[in-house]
Amino acid sequence: MADKRKFYIDGAWVDPAAPQDLEVIDPTTEEPVAVISLGDQADTDRAVAAAKAAFPAWADTPPAERLAAVERLLAVYKKRAGDMAAAITHEMGAPADMSLADQAEAGSWHIETFIETFRDFEFVRPLGDHAPSSRIAWEPVGVVGLITPWNWPMNQVTLKVTPALLAGNTVILKPSEIAPLSSIVFAEMVDEAGFPPGVFNMVNGDGQGVGTQLSTHPDVDMISFTGSTRAGIAITKAAADTVKKVVLELGGKGANLIFADADEKAVIRGARHCFYNSGQSCNAPTRMLVERPAYDKAVALAAKVAEDTRVGSAHDAGPHIGPVVSKQQWDKIQDLIQKGIDEGARLVAGGTGLPEGVNRGYFVRPTVFADVTNDMTIARQEIFGPVLSIIPFDTEDEAVEIANDTIYGLTNYVQTQDGARRNRLARKLRSGMVEMNGESRGRGSAFGGVKASGRAREGGIAGLEEFMDSKAISGWDIEAGENA
Ligand code: NAD
Repeated sequence: MADKRKFYIDGAWVDPAAPQDLEVIDPTTEEPVAVISLGDQADTDRAVAAAKAAFPAWADTPPAERLAAVERLLAVYKKRAGDMAAAITHEMGAPADMSLADQAEAGSWHIETFIETFRDFEFVRPLGDHAPSSRIAWEPVGVVGLITPWNWPMNQVTLKVTPALLAGNTVILKPSEIAPLSSIVFAEMVDEAGFPPGVFNMVNGDGQGVGTQLSTHPDVDMISFTGSTRAGIAITKAAADTVKKVVLELGGKGANLIFADADEKAVIRGARHCFYNSGQSCNAPTRMLVERPAYDKAVALAAKVAEDTRVGSAHDAGPHIGPVVSKQQWDKIQDLIQKGIDEGARLVAGGTGLPEGVNRGYFVRPTVFADVTNDMTIARQEIFGPVLSIIPFDTEDEAVEIANDTIYGLTNYVQTQDGARRNRLARKLRSGMVEMNGESRGRGSAFGGVKASGRAREGGIAGLEEFMDSKAISGWDIEAGENA
């Protein structure tokens, strides 16, 4: 079992102040693969002090030099993509091929995309012709705590670390204690890339410990958090006394509106998307809303997708879904599937228990419920497993009402050939993102939600500006130039 107890603080791997062991469990084998230590207040204080000391010089470092450091990081990341994928497969059970092609690749893609966005970023901008000597300047926030989840570990880490460092902040990363191995590899990459000591720090820990300590720390200026709505609320409250900037990316319960004129493939695509990453994506289209004339066919197609979805070891090659991350998540998902049955939804594929022929690992049967009503628990709670709920509708207005009747507002999906309807619905659905007819969001658009899905924007220019404060300046000397 690998010993991964050390933290990365002030440019060096250091021992925890008072080691508190936690085993990292491989969800395919249920065996421990590594041991980490959970940090305590002394470790958090040490990391925050390093970040605070490094901040003035890093904020003053010319943007081109910060960019060069991140470009070095990208090169190391690409070189070690295989190590990254292996760590993710062990810690959270993403199948090997998917881990490399999607999970690890997402990190590389985000670093690369932010590099491009940053190249054209204007730190000082004119306000407009009406106020020629006014400027808006964009400045780093300061010391930033980054708290991330286990489901898309490197996607989340790179969406935060990259813009935070490019913007001139110094950071303390606290990854999920359930999936810390990928962040340890990432810290090794940062070390190899050669950033000044204290600019990037990583401390492992849980929510009650390091997570709360960062959220309440007087020397932390901002928390960027991705995870559950429950923890997002706790962090917001904890951060209130020190008036931190708090940015939250939280849960989702996406609706996928399928109209009768949609391409049949839309149902298949929607069901596959729901099961992808074993259902552990905040933007998963977990509620499939189908117009009545297409309903029976859609139910049959979705059930077929579930039956055809192979569930298997994360260490096997090929296209299949792996286990869910932990015993705790497996138990929670089983309870919710049972609730669906008890509350009267029609089970058309999957169900409780392990898939046939499997006797270990946290594997869940891809499950489809039909005749779901939006007040059922499975339509309201984020399940975070491969469980699809299908709900019929008769009119466009009814579909919008059902889609918006949720505390969440992250991503909604629309499938119809009717362009006017698509444009109308894109505006009516209350969510941070709307994806239609299978088209993914364009490069540069930001990821984020509304309502209980949080208010953050990650990726694109908005995702860079999220890690900066804007400053309104008047009396700017035009002759002296923009970059004096
Ligand atoms: P979680 O909230 O349990 O944990 C996330 C992180 O927060 C972990 O690092 C954890 O240690 C820490 N944490 C927990 N309680 C805390 C507290 N009180 N104070 C400070 N830190 C605390 O979430 P999870 O189970 O790891 O991840 C799954 C959740 O993340 C789902 O709800 C999912 O929808 C959400 N998610 C959202 C997005 C998005 O972009 N909106 C992306 C991925 C995941």
